[in-house]
Amino acid sequence: MKIARSLQSLKPSYIREILAAAKAPHMISLAGGLPAEDTFPMHILAPIMTQLARLPSLFQYGPTQGYGPLLAYCDQHFAYQPTHTSLITTGSQQGLDLIARAYLDAGDAIVMEAPSYLGALQVFELAQARILPVAQTSTGPDLTQLEAYFAKHSPKLFYAVPDFHNPTGVCWSHATREHVATLCQRYGVVLLEDAPYRELRFSGESLPMVSELCPEQAVVLRSFSKYVSPGMRVGVITGPERFICPLITLKQAADLHSSVPMQALLLETLMYSDFPQHLQAIRTLYQVRYQVLTGALAEQLPQCAATPIDGGMFVWLTLPRCDVEQLAAHLLQQGVAVVPGSVFYPADVDAPPCCAVRLNFTHAEPDTLVEGVSRMADVFAHIQE
Ligand code: PMP
Repeated sequence: MKIARSLQSLKPSYIREILAAAKAPHMISLAGGLPAEDTFPMHILAPIMTQLARLPSLFQYGPTQGYGPLLAYCDQHFAYQPTHTSLITTGSQQGLDLIARAYLDAGDAIVMEAPSYLGALQVFELAQARILPVAQTSTGPDLTQLEAYFAKHSPKLFYAVPDFHNPTGVCWSHATREHVATLCQRYGVVLLEDAPYRELRFSGESLPMVSELCPEQAVVLRSFSKYVSPGMRVGVITGPERFICPLITLKQAADLHSSVPMQALLLETLMYSDFPQHLQAIRTLYQVRYQVLTGALAEQLPQCAATPIDGGMFVWLTLPRCDVEQLAAHLLQQGVAVVPGSVFYPADVDAPPCCAVRLNFTHAEPDTLVEGVSRMADVFAHIQE
């Protein structure tokens, strides 16, 4: 059977391919966006699972919008106004897919940060959107370029990850958040705020979400993957009813509803009395791993620069001029997997050559992080000979 035209240019995710290679014995993987498995709250989940197994009604088909008590929790914690509602999704990745299918026709303009989350690039490229890449600075998107895009191309959406960006770890400043909210309101562009790393702040002061500053002009994607468990596959989209309702109908056609037992398990976990302490322990663990990784980088690769971060899961390491894809291939041969920064840019866009790699610091143990950096330093020394 011939594949649909819209799928003909779809490439499998580079990261998923690297992750497959990274499973080889003795390989050190700094490639995936994986949380540490010892942060999964098994001590909280196990007794709750036993209780839930006594409730057959949870294992019946459920409502498309989501499990009622979890939706009530979302209304209470995430809705900015009474006219806002939520839709539970199978991970926030499904939220991205539903938004693209509901709102984008081929050729519609959307703005994305460059670099940007690979899974979002995949979704928007599949939707055949016209991607306008806005350059990223250390405080967020380049505001002059963003306004020029808004004024000239009337994009439907601005997709952004303001808290601990994937892949760069950048967190937008307060002033940038206010400015972007004002621009979205002034030009009638909907902000799609993707916030899977927001709970993983381990230093610095908390800043308002950008959507909080333009609540009628924004839709938020939240995920429980990074601080509860990615395998549970629960995310939530929240925003004004007029934006969310079409997504509910679309989800009906996509998968009827997300797993009800997993939604119930997630809710009980979030409400568990010790959950805040558990979350704090995750932040501390990740801060230590971040410090170990950046300490080793400063010592062993002083010619490279790691963008400082206050949270999240990634370090963006800028290197002296080199071909990062070739470098990543060399590193893989020497037993360390990293993601070359070039894969995070939209295809067919003239971007300056990318001299950075993304390193994940949350999954590997501290000793392994240090060993990974030492292997990187060996490869560098060899390349520069
Ligand atoms: N958005 C961003 C920015 C991500 O980094 C990820 C996961 N890597 C997702 C969305 C998808 O997360 P999930 O589907 O597990 O909720």
